[in-house]
Amino acid sequence: MITKTVRIDENKIDAALIKEAGEIIKSGGLVAFPTETVYGLGGDALNPESSKKIYAAKGRPSDNPLIVHIYRIEDLEKVAKSVSENAKKVIDAFWPGPLTLIFEKTDAVPKETTGGLDTVAVRFPIHPTAMAFIEAAGGFVAAPSANLSGRPSPTLAKYVCEDLNGRVDMIIDGGNIPIGLESTIVDMTSEVPMILRPGFVSKEMLEEVLGEVRVDPTILDANSKERPKAPGMRYRHYAPKADMAIVRGDEEKVIEKINEIAKEHEGCTVICVDENADKYHGVNLKKVGKKEDALEIASNLYKVLRECDDEGVEYILSESFSDKGIGAAVMNRLIKAAGHKIIDV
Ligand code: AMP
Ligand code: MG
Repeated sequence: MITKTVRIDENKIDAALIKEAGEIIKSGGLVAFPTETVYGLGGDALNPESSKKIYAAKGRPSDNPLIVHIYRIEDLEKVAKSVSENAKKVIDAFWPGPLTLIFEKTDAVPKETTGGLDTVAVRFPIHPTAMAFIEAAGGFVAAPSANLSGRPSPTLAKYVCEDLNGRVDMIIDGGNIPIGLESTIVDMTSEVPMILRPGFVSKEMLEEVLGEVRVDPTILDANSKERPKAPGMRYRHYAPKADMAIVRGDEEKVIEKINEIAKEHEGCTVICVDENADKYHGVNLKKVGKKEDALEIASNLYKVLRECDDEGVEYILSESFSDKGIGAAVMNRLIKAAGHKIIDV
C-alpha cells in the first residue's frame, strides 16, 4: 500500500484534503490524524472490517479495544446506551478535550471495535483538524494511538511514518501535539467512576466535578497481580527498545546513584529535568523539561524515548518526576516504559 502524507494546518484547514481523508474512512480505509493528546490511527468505528484493519496495521492484540471518536455531543447516544448524571457532569466540564469515557455500548458499535466487550470507550477531541476529519469521515472514528503496538505513542508525524508507512492509506501531518500523552480514561459504568488510565485530566480535576472518584488499583501499584480494567494497560507499553530503569528517591542520592551506575554502562543515556543537566558526567543526556512543569515533561517524554530508539541507545536511566496533576500520567507511562524496573535510593 502506498501511504499518502499530507500537511494540514489546524488554523487553516484545507477542506479538500479533509474531504479526501474522510472519504478514505467511509470506504473502509485507514487515516492517521493529529489530536491534542497523540496521533491517532483512524478507521470507521461502525464498520467491523475497518476495526480489523486497525488491529492488523498496528500489530495490536484484538482483545485491546479501540476508542470511538466523535465530533459533536449529539452523536454520543448512537454509541452509548445510557449516559448517567455523573457522566453528564464530566462531559459538561471536560468535553471536548483529552478525556475518554466508558459506557455500555449500543448495537451500532461492532464487537470488533470494542475488543469483544459490551462497553465502549468514547472521546470527543478538541483538536480542530481531528474534529473536521471525524465529521468528514461520517462522525464515528475508531482510533488507537498511531504507533506499532508496544512502541511509544507518536507525538510527531515523522514517528507515525516510521511505524505505519505502507500500512495506512493516509497520514495527516498536523505538526506538534500539545499534550503528548494519551487521554485520561474514566469508567462511567460503575457506581463510583473509576480512572483506568491517568492523563491530562487529573484525579483532582475529576473530583472537583464528581466528588468521589476511584483509581484502578493496578495503576497505583506497579507490582499488582490484578488485571487492569483497561485491557490495553496489561501490555508492556510505551516502551523504548533500550533496557531502562528509573532511579527514585531523594534528589541528590538519585543523581549520585545514576552517575555511579552510568560509569558501568558505556553510552548510557540519562533522562533528567533541565535543572539537573549539568550534574551528570560522561553520559548522553536527554532533558525533558523544567522540574515544576509537568506538562512540559509530559509533552517531551515520548519524543525523548523515540530519540533513544533512533540513536540506538541500549541502556537508559531516568530520574523519577513529580506525580502531581498530569505528573501522575507521566510516572504511569515512565514506569511502564521501564518495564517496572525501579531502583529506590
Ligand atoms: P490507545 O488509543 O492506543 O491509547 O488505546 C485505547 C485504550 O483504551 C486501551 O488502553 C484500551 O484498553 C482502553 N479501552 C478502550 N475501550 C475500553 C473499554 N470498553 N473498557 C476499558 N478500556 C477500554
Ligand atoms: Mg496506544
